[in-house]
Amino acid sequence: MIQLPAPRLEIDLDKVFHNALTLGNRLRKKGISVTGVTKATLGSPEIAEAWLAAGIDGLGDSRTENFTTLRAAKVRTPMSLIRTPMLSQVDQVVNLTNVSFNTELEVIQRLSVAAKKSDIMHEVILMVELGDLREGIMPALLEKTLSKVLKLPNILFTGIGTNLACRSGVSPDCKNMAALSVIADSLETTFGPIVSVVSGGNSANLDWALGKNGEENTGRINNLRLGESLLLGCEPLHRKILQGMFTTSFTLIAEVIELSIKPSEPWGEIAQCAFGDIPEQSGTNTGNSVHNGSIKQAILAIGRQDIDPEGLIPPLGTIILSASSDHLILDVTHYRGNILVGTEIAFQQNYSSLLRSMTSPFIPKIMNGGSESAKRNGVGYHQLSSSPS
Ligand SMILES: *Cc1c(COP(=O)(O)O)cnc(C)c1O
Repeated sequence: MIQLPAPRLEIDLDKVFHNALTLGNRLRKKGISVTGVTKATLGSPEIAEAWLAAGIDGLGDSRTENFTTLRAAKVRTPMSLIRTPMLSQVDQVVNLTNVSFNTELEVIQRLSVAAKKSDIMHEVILMVELGDLREGIMPALLEKTLSKVLKLPNILFTGIGTNLACRSGVSPDCKNMAALSVIADSLETTFGPIVSVVSGGNSANLDWALGKNGEENTGRINNLRLGESLLLGCEPLHRKILQGMFTTSFTLIAEVIELSIKPSEPWGEIAQCAFGDIPEQSGTNTGNSVHNGSIKQAILAIGRQDIDPEGLIPPLGTIILSASSDHLILDVTHYRGNILVGTEIAFQQNYSSLLRSMTSPFIPKIMNGGSESAKRNGVGYHQLSSSPS
């Protein structure tokens, strides 16, 4: 038997494919294209190919490094930088991406210079502020900015977008999405039919886009940029599971390195921990387990450098008690399975923890399945292939 490394992140590319196919088809019926957002995967070419095989229309990421990874792997599809470019990166941006999402005229002017130098056309989407107070041009200033953008050489304005629910938790709804449609119409009244893309937002838009009865009018919104929902099968506003989607595309595995019966309460003078907080007494922090006396405690070789302990979903019958940089401590008193030193424990993760585990160089990414993407490319993935790290 092959000994797989621990910890590890097992990625089921067939589930990744299925989710993209399911959600992509539902949105396509509403006239909405999907930009698959790869940032949580660090621009994983395997995941990108699974999405593209499922009909996802293009890829988006916020970091140029991830486009370098995707380009090096010869992934071919339109690529959008969905964070406004750094002035210091305009050359990389025009050479690595087809489109960038922008809010600063100075940046677009510099993109224009860079694109001219490289003799390419660079597409620009202008982001509009609709209340969440992260990126976006204030609506009143949009026409003025656009009139200047339209004059720039080697820049092609293709549309507008907005982003909600990321800073202030403002939910995408009929009202703010209708406002975006009105803005698209009004720009066209002034400038003619130039707004071909209206990118309504991220996974938080799905409640609105899919509606309760599937009959809601989505107006002029014809694109969404989706990461979390494709990867984890849920929508982020209420973390409801999306119909027909897998929530188990990613499984984190960690190994038990100490197993012992220990008192549930510490002894000695209590001050701050390495991570600054004064620890609550074990058991009381979860509300559902008050121990008297002793518990069966397992330590796993994984920690805050690899995962977000608040975002880990442990197996039934176990409780996460604490985590430090390299140790995750579980109460396994009521775990039904057989646990020994060396036993592997499987976890599901929320987006925050997934992001960290994908980013940790200590966690190999093991790709399983992927026959659909292989068909598209005429190449097969190995049953077990480690990611670039
Ligand atoms: C991260 C990001 C997305 C994707 O968000 P999800 O919630 O993962 O779908 C979309 N748009 C922008 C601008 C982003 O930064």
